[in-house]
Amino acid sequence: MTQFSSVSVPAIAAGKGPFDVSPSPSPDFGCCAMPRKNRAGIFSVPVDMNKAGIAIRAHEYAHLGVFRTLDDMAIHRAAEKHRISENVKQVCMDCLTNAFGLARGLEEIRNLPRETPNDSTPWPERVLHRVQTHGIDGITLPGHHEVVAERACNILANCGRQLARARRRVKNKRQIMKDILFGMSLIESLIALEGDSDVILTFEHDNPELQWGAMREVRLPFVRPITAAIRALTRRPMYVGPLMYPHRYLDGAMFGLRRQVAGGTLLIDMSASMDVTSDQIDAILTHWPAATIAAYGSEKRHCRSGVLVIVARHGRAVDPGVLRDAIGAGNVVDGPALRWLCEQSEPRIWVCDGWVTGIGDYMSLTLVREAMQLARQGKVTRCSSVDEFLKKESL
Ligand SMILES: [Zn+2]
Repeated sequence: MTQFSSVSVPAIAAGKGPFDVSPSPSPDFGCCAMPRKNRAGIFSVPVDMNKAGIAIRAHEYAHLGVFRTLDDMAIHRAAEKHRISENVKQVCMDCLTNAFGLARGLEEIRNLPRETPNDSTPWPERVLHRVQTHGIDGITLPGHHEVVAERACNILANCGRQLARARRRVKNKRQIMKDILFGMSLIESLIALEGDSDVILTFEHDNPELQWGAMREVRLPFVRPITAAIRALTRRPMYVGPLMYPHRYLDGAMFGLRRQVAGGTLLIDMSASMDVTSDQIDAILTHWPAATIAAYGSEKRHCRSGVLVIVARHGRAVDPGVLRDAIGAGNVVDGPALRWLCEQSEPRIWVCDGWVTGIGDYMSLTLVREAMQLARQGKVTRCSSVDEFLKKESL
């Protein structure tokens, strides 16, 4: 029979009871909760004396050890405010808890049962697994994803170790809470961004209070006809199609038939980090004559709110100089602009490098996630530059 580690886990009952202790319904599942005012705590674990059973019990003990100093309800409320999903919160707390347990010498935790994800495992699950098993097995994510995951897990594990070291009172509890939420936010973003982790690599902290700026639509005159687009859009007298040119009865070309022309909507981030030339606008309309092109960015004079300008529609474009003068250097309204895009005709393209910002042109992981979610819901394809879009289109 295997013995429990002799190193002391914080005595779960010490002044914190009562606990309702019961065998868990499954041999590879355990759960626990601290007692509340009106109900006993919960400690439900498998009773098997095999490695997995012992590991799960050790892990749940460690959870209670963490919760002794960090109120689980406070974590729950803060995570909700940061828009962290239940799954991400769980695995991040597991990551922290395992580091806590290992720092207290609970080596049994290393035997926690786990599945091995493969390439066909859905992305969110792979990320969750990576976090949950941090420090106890060697599964990694591809490329830049691993850099983000590693960073987030190290932040969380470090919090766990700090809690393990502080035997009685934790001095920097507030900073630890902040770090935990940042780690969770990084993981949540890693899941939301799928193929695009580069954007979140540089984040130093999150700012969940940050909001998008208000957006107003600016109308500019369409002074520049794009010949190629207009030609493609114009109906021409033909011998088939709806009757449109009755005066052509002499040669029989009384019918007009509009050729199938490519349309859709392109939304372009016009902030300082992006640049769009009139040649590029012309090139877009040559490929997509019926396209509506819009651009957005902050106001010219400040970054508290932003503007959206229709750059081209029905084959006509605004003056590039006037357009430049209408939009400032910040992003600020990526969210509202995306909401606008989601109401326009498909296909929808969003040309943006992913550096989305809110009021003051500040970035936040929460806003990055929201933008990516909007894009996904609206079936929006993102390109990081106009050239990238044109290259794709001309293939
Ligand atoms: Zn757990």
